[in-house]
Amino acid sequence: MRIPTSLDDQIAAAREDRLRVLIAGAGVAGVTLAQLLRRDGLRPVLIERAAPDADKGYMLGLMPLVEPVIRRLGVEEPFRDASVGLHRYRLHGHTGKTLRTYSFDTLLSQFGDYRGIARGDLLHAFTPDGAPVTFGATVRALSQAADSVQVTIQDSEQVATGDFDLVVAADGLHSSTRALILRPDQAVPYDTGWGGWVAWIDDGDPALTDLYDEIWGAGFFVGIYPVKGRVGVFVGGDRSETAVGPSRFVARIRDDLREFDKRTERALAAIAAGGGDYYWRFTDVRSATWSVGRVALLGDAAAGFLPTAGIGAGMAMESAGVLARTLATADRATVTAALREYERAQRPRVEAAQANSRQLAHLVFQRNHALVAIRDLATRFVTLKMALGPIRKLLQDQPAA
Ligand SMILES: Cc1cc2nc3c(=O)[nH]c(=O)nc-3n(C[C@H](O)[C@H](O)[C@H](O)COP(=O)(O)OP(=O)(O)OC[C@H]3O[C@@H](n4cnc5c(N)ncnc54)[C@H](O)[C@@H]3O)c2cc1C
Repeated sequence: MRIPTSLDDQIAAAREDRLRVLIAGAGVAGVTLAQLLRRDGLRPVLIERAAPDADKGYMLGLMPLVEPVIRRLGVEEPFRDASVGLHRYRLHGHTGKTLRTYSFDTLLSQFGDYRGIARGDLLHAFTPDGAPVTFGATVRALSQAADSVQVTIQDSEQVATGDFDLVVAADGLHSSTRALILRPDQAVPYDTGWGGWVAWIDDGDPALTDLYDEIWGAGFFVGIYPVKGRVGVFVGGDRSETAVGPSRFVARIRDDLREFDKRTERALAAIAAGGGDYYWRFTDVRSATWSVGRVALLGDAAAGFLPTAGIGAGMAMESAGVLARTLATADRATVTAALREYERAQRPRVEAAQANSRQLAHLVFQRNHALVAIRDLATRFVTLKMALGPIRKLLQDQPAA
């Protein structure tokens, strides 16, 4: 559980630490890093722009590459209890017809489990003993000196300044902390032109709780992803078409679909009824460098992820693990060298995963009917081994836990 804590209390607790660390963003990467540093005896100041109850959340599929970090955090049990095992993936073509059902187990089980979890439940599972967070807070200014960085933080009550040895920007894809250290041309966005909505539906058929369903349409995409006790739905499309709103866009999908089962029907109905009121634009970003002086980028703030390939959260957690490892032996004098080592070790892996996610987006986000018909045919011959090739490679070469 993230426990609302005043900024003054957090800063006071960190004052005598070997490294005074500020983490901006209490999402997947920020919470993972904070908890790992706490296990190493530090008391990082963790701030979050949103309110404690703001996160409606979405569903995450987590590849086995998260397991080393979960073991290090000692949260195997709460994580297992809050998630479901994913074993099967059913791919539907542009008319809704099932093209193929794949087994995840044959390819991934040698590395561990592939599990589905709601983002909010993940943050909860990672903080079983509570984690102090100052909500409604954001970094307004940074001023770097040779031996520290002075940070201006604004929360709902005050504007405060504090001296830190390290600031970690873990504030997501649209990181405003990143914008304080990089020029605009050093954070290059990538836009798929697509976007969509997320909604939740009830668990439904218990026989389907381990099954991912995806429909790859012409100009639309439907994804159905179980987590513990419910099912996350994503419906998206080209932004020029989704501009009509969820209800009319779903009607357009129904026109294309010749076959759909009860689960798909419930998923579409939830989106059409406005269940997914938040609209996600499918963009990502790649940063030219992951640190400037004593300020480091982590997770989506360093290299943002599209939802395709379902690996952004996993990479964010892995990167937090690598950063915590390099900081374990760092002190105030050596922290900038530790940040360079973190970037050297992790950036190539993350950018490879990001490139894979972009390639998949290019394949999935298609409007042209002729190309989509060819894709339907081709996917019958693509094995999951081929599709998951780049991810298996990441799993084979994982950094030391
Ligand atoms: C719809 C969707 C589905 C996805 N599905 C998957 C999946 O199945 N598997 C997977 O591995 N990945 C998935 N991803 C990607 C994954 O969610 C991200 O890669 C991951 O959350 C990145 O973690 P992060 O901590 O860097 O960012 P986030 O988890 O986004 O956390 C950033 C945090 O910073 C806070 N914040 C923002 N600005 C500030 C500020 N100025 N000051 C302080 N705090 C701030 C935010 O409120 C947020 O809590 C999906 C993404 C989306 C959008």
